[in-house]
Amino acid sequence: MVIEPKVRGFICTTAHPDGCRESVQRQINYVKRHERKEGPKRILIIGSSTGYGLASRIATTYTYGAATLGIMFEKEATERRTATPGFYNTKAFEEQAKKDGFYAETINQDAFSDETKVMAIQKIKENLGQVDMVIYSLAAPRRTVGDVTYSSVLKTIGEPFTNRTLDLKTNELSEVTIPAATLEEIDATVHVMGGEDWKLWMQELMKANVLADGVITIAYSYVGPKLTSPIYSEGTIGKAKQHLYETSLELSKELSDIQGKAYISVNKALVTQASAAIPIVPLYISLLYQVMKKKGLHEGCIEQMDRLFAERLTRNPIPTDEKGQIRMDDFELSKEVQSEVEEAWNNVNADNLHEYADIKGYWEEFYHMFGFHYDNIDYSKDVK
Ligand code: NAD
Repeated sequence: MVIEPKVRGFICTTAHPDGCRESVQRQINYVKRHERKEGPKRILIIGSSTGYGLASRIATTYTYGAATLGIMFEKEATERRTATPGFYNTKAFEEQAKKDGFYAETINQDAFSDETKVMAIQKIKENLGQVDMVIYSLAAPRRTVGDVTYSSVLKTIGEPFTNRTLDLKTNELSEVTIPAATLEEIDATVHVMGGEDWKLWMQELMKANVLADGVITIAYSYVGPKLTSPIYSEGTIGKAKQHLYETSLELSKELSDIQGKAYISVNKALVTQASAAIPIVPLYISLLYQVMKKKGLHEGCIEQMDRLFAERLTRNPIPTDEKGQIRMDDFELSKEVQSEVEEAWNNVNADNLHEYADIKGYWEEFYHMFGFHYDNIDYSKDVK
């Protein structure tokens, strides 16, 4: 079968195994350019197959020489469909990591379920004994607890919000109105993307005595500028991220018995499967990329996670903001970057869109996520 990209709005319904392998290999090569550093040696990564979670897995394996157990929710290939990119990424990662002498195993099932937590604990006991670090990098549309399924929504809180966005079907500017969420929708989003499940994981791991003394757990968050605040930081997802932050404080207290600590790392806005789905964000990201690339400050998932694990977490004490959060969005939110992005936002129109917005860069990263558009891959080749 020859695999071609099939793009539907913000999603691509096919993925290329050779391209996903290339993407993983490039990330490994990026981390291997520097020497090994001291760090946690046994790591559980929840949401390990794409985006920030995959980059965290690669960064910790090749920076600390860590053994990793990953949790993901990905689809295998069938007669009619390719697998999801996370499936191919993980296969490629595991093969390379094992070749390089690292333990790497992955559980492919719903992280929100009790069974997955039980299975992860069993695997940790069998193969690692305990873990020194737990990374929580889930981005999920829904979560089932007992008989209830909560769906997260990307809406505002209070008033609807109208602004421009990049229409990913036409690559043109368009206007979008984001409706305000109901109380039920806000609550559901917090259940899915807040800290409830992170806390359950940590409590179960602690009860099973598989957390090592001095364990560190990190969950990923986003804040963003004022420009996107009605849809992000002050919207439903922001409410969930606030809950995630409060959970980090609670977890730090609970983990203090074993000298453990919970952190939030606030990361940069990037093209991932999760962020492409947020209205207005694609336009913001393409303006941001243009500015950050021009200034030599652009980073992708692997550059961000390499900086987090090789430069921030290796310091004692770990540098944080006044709320105790690790800020990997420092370049994005710097005054020099934001003032130019704001200016671009105010000036951009249909005629000058390509001058201000890095639409080519946006799409390159988008296609790369699914294993397409790598110049050294022969896409006309039959793939089994
Ligand atoms: P992503 O979509 O690339 O990755 C999500 C991961 O979660 C995948 O490994 C997927 O398999 C896994 N997953 C989803 N549902 C699951 C389930 N039910 N069970 C098991 N695994 C499941 O997302 P991402 O953009 O890397 O986001 C990861 C975290 O980083 C999120 O908390 C997100 O808010 C945060 N973040 C993202 C950005 C951004 O711009 N993309 C910026 C800052 C912070």
